[in-house]
Amino acid sequence: MFNLLVIWACKAVSTSSLRVAETTFPRISPPNRSSYLLVTLSEPHPAFVTGRRLVSDADLEAIKERYKFRCATCGSKEGEPNLRYPRVRTELQMAHRNPKQPLTGGNLIPQCQFCNRADRNYWVYDERGRVVGVADPKPIQKSIREGYLDRQQVELLYRYLQHWLQQEAQKREST
Ligand SMILES: [Zn+2]
Repeated sequence: MFNLLVIWACKAVSTSSLRVAETTFPRISPPNRSSYLLVTLSEPHPAFVTGRRLVSDADLEAIKERYKFRCATCGSKEGEPNLRYPRVRTELQMAHRNPKQPLTGGNLIPQCQFCNRADRNYWVYDERGRVVGVADPKPIQKSIREGYLDRQQVELLYRYLQHWLQQEAQKREST
């Protein structure tokens, strides 16, 4: 909640109109554009959409507890030596299961600092931390370029894409 309030205050200042702030506190304005004005602690920001709610600290703890404080992907336990890199202490981070979905409780899994690397945004994970899909075509392009997929697999993919695109075009025509 605190973060949202800071973002709200920041937005009110950056739009320079201070419309929301002025209607709530007409005599108060921030000294300059780079400072923040706290608007209210009792009302959520109007852009705050319920149902896509960000998770609270308590929710994050509950998620970690559900996973017994272990990385969903490699099983390393928080604060203990990492299973793959035993000289490093495991830090648990909250990771998206699907990077294209909002950051809500059902889309979060705990991962250690090694499993939660930047390239993980290429993948979609299930609740047990296993890769179940791609969220970005780059690894497929690389697989074709580097020959990880053989010609037969690439042809299969090509035919699948052709079929899929035709179906999509038909759907668009019929609507
Ligand atoms: Zn891990």
